[in-house]
Amino acid sequence: MAHRADVTAHRGAVLHFRSDPGEHDAPDSYEYWEDGLLLVRDGKVEKVGDWAALSAGLPDPCNVVMHGCKLLLPGFIDPHIHFPQTDVIASGGHNLLDWLEHYTFPAEQRFADTTHAREVASFFLDELLANGTTTAQVLGTVHRGAIEEFFQVAKDRRLRMIAGKVLMDRNSPDDLRDTAAGGELDTRELIEKWHDNDRLHYAITPRFAPTSSADQLASAGRLAQEYPTVLIHSHLAENRDEIAWVRELFPDSQSYLDVYDRFGLLRERATYAHCLHLDAQDRRRMAASGAAAAFCPTSNLYLGSGLFDIAASDAAGLRFALATDVGGGTSFSMLKTMSEGYKVAQMLGQRLSPLRAFYLATLAGARILGLQDRIGHFAPGTEADFIVLDPAATPLLARRSAQALTLSERLLLLLVLGDDRCVSSTYVLGERVTRNS
Ligand SMILES: [Zn+2]
Repeated sequence: MAHRADVTAHRGAVLHFRSDPGEHDAPDSYEYWEDGLLLVRDGKVEKVGDWAALSAGLPDPCNVVMHGCKLLLPGFIDPHIHFPQTDVIASGGHNLLDWLEHYTFPAEQRFADTTHAREVASFFLDELLANGTTTAQVLGTVHRGAIEEFFQVAKDRRLRMIAGKVLMDRNSPDDLRDTAAGGELDTRELIEKWHDNDRLHYAITPRFAPTSSADQLASAGRLAQEYPTVLIHSHLAENRDEIAWVRELFPDSQSYLDVYDRFGLLRERATYAHCLHLDAQDRRRMAASGAAAAFCPTSNLYLGSGLFDIAASDAAGLRFALATDVGGGTSFSMLKTMSEGYKVAQMLGQRLSPLRAFYLATLAGARILGLQDRIGHFAPGTEADFIVLDPAATPLLARRSAQALTLSERLLLLLVLGDDRCVSSTYVLGERVTRNS
């Protein structure tokens, strides 16, 4: 893209969050300007607010981009997704363990080939950006080379991404296993090379308790202690057969959560996908540790795993954010993910308001990943990763949006009827990186 003045004023409807709106849409939790301004200089947010109040003071020269009635939002943040499962999405499998054995592991075996890994990483990032997701926490495979390819492709695009090589030393095919010592050495070297390298961060990534020996989980805990700013990323309590298996494998543990706790894997910047079948005690214990949950509704419904309990998580003070979990999840779109999350809440007689759903797809992710000082909202000084959503992207959306009176009504329409067709543009550090419209 040609470089003009390094300051650009974006005019449109602007929404971002300052805190969790909770169940009742706390009025000070968000800021919204129907005719707003987002001023971006050198890839960072310089100002945000009302166009009429701020436009007289624009710098000169200044590029101006008019977005009409489209909605400017911080880029979506997906805290749990598997890049090697791009080619598994919408495959069969009756449940988690069956799906892993018959679809996921065979697809992951191909990532021994770094050329394949690079091609998939590139397609995967194109797909994320087309869907308006500018940051994700990404699981790789057991192969060190594959995650190196992912990091390099993300770095070339100047994206803020978190990723990790999967640790898996048992209960998986021969060519998808590392060893406790080998996995620790690879992880250590990957952390040294990639953690805080430009906009990239490393996550220590045991796949889940059943595929790591006690020795391997202990080594992951040691690494977590040695590198306190590194993230931790895994799965927890997704499926009842899985939980029974964990009980057999770790008979001394009080619960599935207790396995991770005993090995020092619960702390701030630790994200556990699913967390469906936890009791109140485990939720409180997890909340107290600072670890957070990734709520993956399309995956939980597709694999029949269960319903994430928003009210119980809130009652325990357990933080969570929305995530796609592709390829158990069925869409790269955080809009479609919000829609399924809304329905999961309905099934439990709970409420997920449209405002809170958008919070869970933006600022909530930044917070659980420890990146809230850089991304996920529009405070001055944050990085200008943002998206432009078109509330009239399809004839039906245009028709219904014309009837919507309130912000909540407009957001509900976007999340229920929207998908990647609504993402007019995705900007990374102030530069437009997609041309969907
Ligand atoms: Zn997953």
